[in-house]
Amino acid sequence: MKLSQRAQKLEPSVTLAAAAKAKALKAKGVDVLSLTVGEPDFTTPKNIKDAAITAINSGQASFYTQSAGIPELRLAIADYMEKYYDRKYAIEEIIVTDGAKYALYNLFQAILDKGDEVIIPVPYWVSYGEQVKLAEGVPVYVDGLFENDFKVTVAQLEKAKTKNTVALILNSPSNPTGMIYTKEELTAIGNWAVKNDILIVADDIYGRLVYDGNEFTPIATLSEAIAKQTIVINGVSKTYAMTGWRIGFAVGDEKIIKAMTNIASQSTSNPTAASQYAALEALSGDQTSVENMRAAFEARLNKLYPLVAAIPGVELKKPQGAFYLFPNVKKTMEMCGYDDVNVFVEDLLEEGHVALVTGAGFGAPENVRISYAASWDILEEAVRRMHKFVENKRNKD
Ligand code: PMP
Ligand code: GLU
Repeated sequence: MKLSQRAQKLEPSVTLAAAAKAKALKAKGVDVLSLTVGEPDFTTPKNIKDAAITAINSGQASFYTQSAGIPELRLAIADYMEKYYDRKYAIEEIIVTDGAKYALYNLFQAILDKGDEVIIPVPYWVSYGEQVKLAEGVPVYVDGLFENDFKVTVAQLEKAKTKNTVALILNSPSNPTGMIYTKEELTAIGNWAVKNDILIVADDIYGRLVYDGNEFTPIATLSEAIAKQTIVINGVSKTYAMTGWRIGFAVGDEKIIKAMTNIASQSTSNPTAASQYAALEALSGDQTSVENMRAAFEARLNKLYPLVAAIPGVELKKPQGAFYLFPNVKKTMEMCGYDDVNVFVEDLLEEGHVALVTGAGFGAPENVRISYAASWDILEEAVRRMHKFVENKRNKD
């Protein structure tokens, strides 16, 4: 059977692939600890689940909804944007999508023509480049330097810009590094984007998961001109422990949102109705659980960070948000006789029984990604195993 070039060239998501591999080993009875996929280990708060159950039982969730999402949820997103972004968006500037991942996919379909370039800071979340390519766009990678907390500067963006540059993706707090751009950095980048008429795709999905008194500034809040130049991507997956419900949203320019709505109408029709009612409760109901979960991630980060930093050879900056550690393991690998991070990660899984994600999928082949969205017992035991694995390998040579 024929396969399209598009499908043949597509890399599968390395995060989901690593998680699937760990699950398969577990199913075979191997005691694997998986710190792969980035999803809260908490279950969805009860008030949110109850709202979905009510929508199902009342029959409300039985039917197709508007392609851009139910009006109540779009209004709740407008309220959310007013509260956290201090800006009033019209309902026409908001689309509800099947997860933030599909918001991004759909957005690239809506704005890119063949050969259009999208600047993507490295390390990047695994799906950005592949989604841009699926829309026949060209990802242009710009290295965030370790010395600059993996962040890119206007000087670097200026160098990467061509006449074909259409958009820039910013993900702060970042998956995988956990770093947050400062207000000053974002103002400089935002003004540069406005000056060059480059659309800012602000993936703010980790914006409420920020630790140790660090602050998240959404770029869309910095000026009217920057707000108009920005499409905000967000969702309920991470903040409300709702990864399985698949609800995200995009907010910004009405023309772009209309184009995205047309694409949704011809591809997914609408996000799952019951999930939309759940998301409505998530955004507008009691927010206590958000702070409880955030505080739990913060406590884990503060206990885990020194333990991972103490693994021989590891170089690690302390993340400010999200729920990942992204250590550079170049020296660790050298000590253990590895020169390929994929092989290192594979052996750690098969011999050490700890599953991580290779940094190669994030454009950083000297790093590994550790998700700490797992219970403390699992994290503590996983670090013990990682230490042991490294010590065993070192002593062999
Ligand atoms: N952006 C980033 C940076 C992510 O880590 C994720 C997690 N999958 C997403 C977008 C998409 O999230 P979801 O589709 O679950 O809303
Ligand atoms: N964003 C999460 C991660 O990076 C979920 C998996 C995915 O969608 O890639 O692990």
